[in-house]
Amino acid sequence: MTAGASPAPYLRLAGIRKDFGSFAALKGIDLDIAQGEFVCFLGPSGCGKTTLLRIIAGLEVQSAGRIELAGRDISRLPPAERDYGIVFQSYALFPNLSVADNVAYGLVNGKVDRQHRVERVRELLALVGLPGSEARFPAQLSGGQQQRIALARALATSPGLLLLDEPLSALDAIVRVKLRGEIRALQRQLGVTTVMVTHDQEEAFAVADRVVVMNQGSIEQVGTATTVYREPATPFVADFVGRINTLPATAGAEPGQLKIGERVFRSEHPSALAHAAGQDLRICLRPEDVVARPLPPGDPNVIEARVEKIDFMGPYCLVRVSSGALGEQALTVYLSLHFLTEARLEVGSFLPLRLLPERMRVYA
Ligand code: ATP
Repeated sequence: MTAGASPAPYLRLAGIRKDFGSFAALKGIDLDIAQGEFVCFLGPSGCGKTTLLRIIAGLEVQSAGRIELAGRDISRLPPAERDYGIVFQSYALFPNLSVADNVAYGLVNGKVDRQHRVERVRELLALVGLPGSEARFPAQLSGGQQQRIALARALATSPGLLLLDEPLSALDAIVRVKLRGEIRALQRQLGVTTVMVTHDQEEAFAVADRVVVMNQGSIEQVGTATTVYREPATPFVADFVGRINTLPATAGAEPGQLKIGERVFRSEHPSALAHAAGQDLRICLRPEDVVARPLPPGDPNVIEARVEKIDFMGPYCLVRVSSGALGEQALTVYLSLHFLTEARLEVGSFLPLRLLPERMRVYA
């Protein structure tokens, strides 16, 4: 490797297309994943994330494109020759086999001798937090326990790649959160390169080194959770990942000036600095980027807002406000219960709010 060059990707997807008849489910996916990385495919239903995972696994054949794993072209190899373990949403354990036989399934095919198999199964069950459960059967286990067994089975042959297809979505909320933490810890401990499909943003953010946001068969953005959330590359990402306020505006005469009706606001975000005066734009602003304090005197971004609706969310309230300064358009903001009580705010109250200039991202 030359000095400063980044290491070769462990998994490389190049120009992956998938057509189902005349429908293009994947429209040319290019993606490099480094060894040991945990990557999540995140996107709405039908965006193609499961199809992409299945293509990596060899369970679906791509219409075009190339897949490399550890420098090897695996594009046309059958699943058994691709060196991965996989966990599906439905537990997919063999109901008639004991836990030990389920976990050892890949080892039997791999002709590992019996003594090593027994030891490996013991080790794997300890790894997934179910030591001593060898003799039990899937029907005697909870959903979360069954997914742990499925995980142990997927890891049995120490594959280079772990594929997870919505492994948590059939579980209840508490188990889901606990198990995702365990999967992440296990992945770190083993250093196994992992790709997980999910439609749950919080889940992706909690586990992934990088999130791949997909929409209609294409990648919209690849980045860390923070980047994807704070600097969404497209309006789709801004809207799909978290809550967002979208306000139509036009570019003013000066860089960063944004007009809503006759009122001129100021954005300091780089995306707002290079538009021709009068150009139609969309301002995107997260609820937490509209603040009740501090309110610098004379700031053009401070508006008088009227409380329209308060939704209690526990630690904070989701408050919908409107303002004449925004042409009566609504904004959603987060306010703490303490603040609402202290300021004696209720539906119909007025309060000043500030649209943070450095967070006012603009799309043409
Ligand atoms: P979900 O979260 O709902 O599973 P997804 O993002 O995983 O969605 P895919 O299952 O990859 O989406 O499907 C992508 C698109 O391809 C969908 O429009 C789907 O209807 C279509 N599709 C998937 N498999 C087939 C198939 N075997 N035949 C025809 N169309 C298919």
